[in-house]
Amino acid sequence: MLDELRGLLNSRSGPQALLLVELNDPVRWREALGFERAAALFEQLSQQLHNLFAARASVKRFGDSALCIFLPKVHNAGHAVLAAERIRRCVLDSSEEVAALARLLRIGIALHPRDGETADVLLRAAQLATAMARRRSEVVAVFDSGCSESLQASNRIGAALGAALDDGQLTLHYQPKVRINDGTVIGVEALMRWFDGVATVATPDVFIPAAEELGLGHEFAWMSLTNGLRLSQSLGGLPVAVNITPAVLHQKEFVEMVESALRAWDTRADTLTLELTEGALVADFAEARARLTHLRKQGIRVSIDDFGTGYSSLSYFKSIPADELKIDKSFIVRMVEDSADQRLVAAIIALAHQFDLKVVAEGVESRACLDMLAALDCDSAQGFLFGPAMAEDRLRHWLWESRSARVGA
Ligand code: C2E
Ligand code: CA
Ligand code: CA
Repeated sequence: MLDELRGLLNSRSGPQALLLVELNDPVRWREALGFERAAALFEQLSQQLHNLFAARASVKRFGDSALCIFLPKVHNAGHAVLAAERIRRCVLDSSEEVAALARLLRIGIALHPRDGETADVLLRAAQLATAMARRRSEVVAVFDSGCSESLQASNRIGAALGAALDDGQLTLHYQPKVRINDGTVIGVEALMRWFDGVATVATPDVFIPAAEELGLGHEFAWMSLTNGLRLSQSLGGLPVAVNITPAVLHQKEFVEMVESALRAWDTRADTLTLELTEGALVADFAEARARLTHLRKQGIRVSIDDFGTGYSSLSYFKSIPADELKIDKSFIVRMVEDSADQRLVAAIIALAHQFDLKVVAEGVESRACLDMLAALDCDSAQGFLFGPAMAEDRLRHWLWESRSARVGA
């Protein structure tokens, strides 16, 4: 495979992209399907991709569960990501059995000459990008120079996590969520913190993926759910939102875990909101949808987190299994100065309301920003303007002060 790649690099001119297409956790699906069946399915998948690209690109087997696709005339990462999206759609449109592999797809992208001049370096970059995709539970990742550093860092973190869990170094903090038109606190979002007694060891966007890699995803989700619901109950049923990663959503125990957490704290289903990213729904829409629909029937709310950063199509709105959209903080923070971001936020709010979704803006840091959101008819807001995520006792104090301030006002 490497020799062919070298040959292609020498014979073609212009920028090119290497897409490394892998199936996540190949050992497990091969065991689940049986070796022969798995091999036959993978052969079908590779044939589909040969047909998809026909003469425009070379598609080569790489080991028994990966393919290398070498695309000519790719001028930027955006082009390569679009090609990856076509791969995903092609898999989804195949026979039912092949389509079921879509949720296992991980595609790492490396660009020539940007990420490497030689075949070996380029392949290594694509492998690191695939590892990043796996770690983030996303279908596609593009190599950047931070990939290898961040993988090393999360390996170090992984080693310390188990002990941190046993020592009680991981706790939940809670950030208030405020209704914009009257300033009422309508709930909190549970956010995890790792503090070793002296300092913060790592931030959750780093240690949560590392925990999942170690197979601790379920345990972490259980911790967020039960702590969040316990707090909610102690505050008279204040609604609480809990972040759920794509990997946890796709575990077969997921629905049972949520239901038993609600039973354990004897809480009403509608006090719980599950925050999921668009990616969680895109990876395997049918299955995720069925689970969320089941939970929503009981009254549990679903919120689409980081909205605007994914790559879902507009038709997604027609059948989105959610009650709420959270507009990603990158848009909200920039909105104050950038009129394009402001128009984008206005359009998202209007579209969401058309489909009966509530809209939350995250990352509200200034009064000016809040005023703009109020004018755009945004429903609620979270951000440093109101308060950061706080430990339980600080939150109680904050709630007490904010109530007295409103009563005084
Ligand atoms: P997220 O769910 O999008 O959470 C919002 C992040 O924005 C939080 O970062 C929060 O502290 C931060 N933030 C809040 N207000 C502001 C603001 O006004 N300005 C700015 N610039 N940032 C603000 P945090 O706590 O570091 O969490 C990062 C991400 O880690 C979260 O993003 C979430 O995806 C994940 N995460 C955190 N806790 C958990 C957890 O318990 N379980 C899971 N699965 N993921 C978690
Ligand atoms: Ca969130
Ligand atoms: Ca977010």
